[in-house]
Amino acid sequence: MTRRHHPTAALAELESRYAALARSLGEIGFIAQGSLRQRFTHCNKPGCRCGAVSPRLHGPYWQWTAKVAGRTVTRRLSTAEAARYTEWIANDRQLHARWRRCARSLRRRERSSWRPSRRAVRPRERSGPAGTLR
Ligand SMILES: [Zn+2]
Repeated sequence: MTRRHHPTAALAELESRYAALARSLGEIGFIAQGSLRQRFTHCNKPGCRCGAVSPRLHGPYWQWTAKVAGRTVTRRLSTAEAARYTEWIANDRQLHARWRRCARSLRRRERSSWRPSRRAVRPRERSGPAGTLR
């Protein structure tokens, strides 16, 4: 039998794991959402190689795409910017992965502490503007 089976020890382990995860969120650097890809483009200038019968397109260019306030935004980036965005996007994914682990660990912690106080009385909800109260 290991200590893990003792509920108090299991709870302490969950709490310390959660605290370590929560701390690690702060160690993640700058973040950016969206994704990067390389694109080739047409310039539409008459006589340009990109409009030839066997076209040679311009590029590759780095393009960043993200949803900003519900709209898809794209922006062309320099190679240096693309390198930074690559790092920031990876950081953002790390952040979300760690956050999901935090949330899972928090749910486990809640479940393990529910039993004794499961029937705690919730305060009556008193929300809504005054006009809707009866
Ligand atoms: Zn062109």
